[in-house]
Amino acid sequence: MRILLVEDDPQLGDGLTVGLRQAGFAVDWVKDGVAADQALATETFDLVVLDLGLPKLEGMEVLKRVRARGQALPALILTARDATADKIAGLDSGADDYLVKPIDLDELAARIRALVRRAAGRAEPVLRHGTVTLEPASRRVTVADFAIELSAREFAVLHALMENAGRVMSRAQLESSIYGWRDEPDSNALEVHIHHLRKKLGTDFIKTLRGVGYMIPK
Ligand code: CA
Repeated sequence: MRILLVEDDPQLGDGLTVGLRQAGFAVDWVKDGVAADQALATETFDLVVLDLGLPKLEGMEVLKRVRARGQALPALILTARDATADKIAGLDSGADDYLVKPIDLDELAARIRALVRRAAGRAEPVLRHGTVTLEPASRRVTVADFAIELSAREFAVLHALMENAGRVMSRAQLESSIYGWRDEPDSNALEVHIHHLRKKLGTDFIKTLRGVGYMIPK
């Protein structure tokens, strides 16, 4: 899951970046509205966490541009403004949820999971495929009811593939779901994660489509 965090407060932005990464998300952080608009117009994110009071371009304007481009990614507003009118304006401008500062990190992570789940058209919080289950909230994976240990990145790759079961995911899509901008992948790291996942889940669980990408067949 790749998240764009838009927050101009350095301490809050830093804290949220660290916290959300610990919660298992790939996080890219920008500090003003113009940088946010550019990132959202040119890159693919699973969700945007958006402050409203921003330098250069207001958060509400960033959001309106996202929706005007036809981008459907979930948007969660972070705001110090607890006035009901601001919440209504945000939701009516295309936001899907909001949190009023100060932010509780566990609540933010849970709301992100819920928004991503709904965006994928799922109500069920557990992903299942064959004998494999994956719980995003607890980060627990089981095979035939036995818990298995995965590294943070193995979990992220598996989560992305299971969330998109039946669709081919390119190398670039998978890498963007596990790495942020400041965290350039080794050229063969993805293959290593896939290799480890196959050892733990069974060799046929993840299919390779040469030159195209990987998928979990439906
Ligand atoms: Ca701000």
